[in-house]
Amino acid sequence: MSHVSYPYEAPQSQSLFDRASVVTPGGVNSPVRAFRAVGGTPRFMVSGTGPYLTDADGREYVDLVCSWGPMILGHSNPAVIDAVQRAVALGTSFGTPGQGEVELAEEIVARVAPVEQVRLVSSGTEATMSAIRLARGFTGRAKVVKFAGCYHGHVDALLAAAGSGVATFGLPDTPGVTGAQAGDTIVLPYNDLAAVEQAFAAHPGEIACVITEASPGNMGVVPPLPGFNAGLARLCRDNGALFVSDEVMTGFRVSKAGWYGLEAANEGWAPDLLTFGKVMGGGFPAAAFGGRADVMAHLAPAGPVYQAGTLSGNPVATAAGLAQLRGCTDEVYATVDRVSAEISGLVSEALTKEGVAHRLQTAGNMFSVFFTEAAVTNYEEARTQEAYRFTAFFHAMLAEGVYLPPSAFESWFVSASHDERAIERIAAALPAAARAAAAATV
Ligand SMILES: *Cc1c(COP(=O)(O)O)cnc(C)c1O
Repeated sequence: MSHVSYPYEAPQSQSLFDRASVVTPGGVNSPVRAFRAVGGTPRFMVSGTGPYLTDADGREYVDLVCSWGPMILGHSNPAVIDAVQRAVALGTSFGTPGQGEVELAEEIVARVAPVEQVRLVSSGTEATMSAIRLARGFTGRAKVVKFAGCYHGHVDALLAAAGSGVATFGLPDTPGVTGAQAGDTIVLPYNDLAAVEQAFAAHPGEIACVITEASPGNMGVVPPLPGFNAGLARLCRDNGALFVSDEVMTGFRVSKAGWYGLEAANEGWAPDLLTFGKVMGGGFPAAAFGGRADVMAHLAPAGPVYQAGTLSGNPVATAAGLAQLRGCTDEVYATVDRVSAEISGLVSEALTKEGVAHRLQTAGNMFSVFFTEAAVTNYEEARTQEAYRFTAFFHAMLAEGVYLPPSAFESWFVSASHDERAIERIAAALPAAARAAAAATV
């Protein structure tokens, strides 16, 4: 990091960051925003239109983060903004049921076949936390299987060994999570069905659920090997556990029905519970979990498993989410797929030209670049990449007005608004960035 020079300045962002650092830990409200992995000044954004963001210094960037996934139609999409303005004018929260919630739930149920019922919440973290509570309540079992490198939000039990490699039993990753909270979490290597089989054999009748990212994007893009998800579904069924597919990132992004639509729907199996967030909120805090009606019937007030939220199904958030989902047509997904293929192809081409060892990994229209030779199938392998090359690449792109995720272990996101002009800007920035990656040293 110390070898990277920053050939440009961002005085307004730096000044805001200095102020933020006084009143907020680390100056940010979500850690990765602080640029710790890449160094330099985090950009404070003031506006977004289509594929572009403008920062506090008035500099424009092509955005390849898209708010970490949600902005699939681009920033300030007119239909979403219009729906939000109309909703706001009617009042912002009632603490009662409302029509928008019904319509958003109907849209989700109509899109994702195994979701018979859905409960709206305000964040992906809440969705996975509640799904696990429901799985435990439904099965009467305590243990949860998760995979190293999969992120499910900052749920205490799921912060076990999320970043500490392969451990058989969950050890808390972070101070503040107790051994008791993580002790029922079994962490296994991703894409390793034999390990899951062994865990079920070692803990008969004790495992409530297996939770996995439908296709992981939080260790970089590491898609499931053929048969892995289907195998998880089968092992869960055979052992009386629930299969929870976390589609907070992939849901309504990689297809109309998320990763389920790309994989399971064609293979004839289904998760028992699914979690959603990001795209379904249209840029607002809206998320959900849903699935089998007989399982969902265990939720309060229909059943005994408690779950609630003051702002759950908020009318402004549901209006935004509904407008965005209705805007996510077949044509939009075709466009996002095409734009993703075009941009990822340009990135790979530029790196190849400079002789930079890399691996472009894709999962539908999500992609990321690993600075390594071999295919990456799990977290251990992901961590062997030469991340210092990404740091140099990132800053060269930023200098040319392209905003990448500030970490080598994150998915890149595009939108249907990424047009030829935006793609040309990326193409123009790539040669120098590839050279910077080639020249980078530890
Ligand atoms: C983003 C994410 C979450 C957490 O969602 P928040 O809204 O940030 O709480 C959970 N699971 C996956 C797969 C995610 O990508």
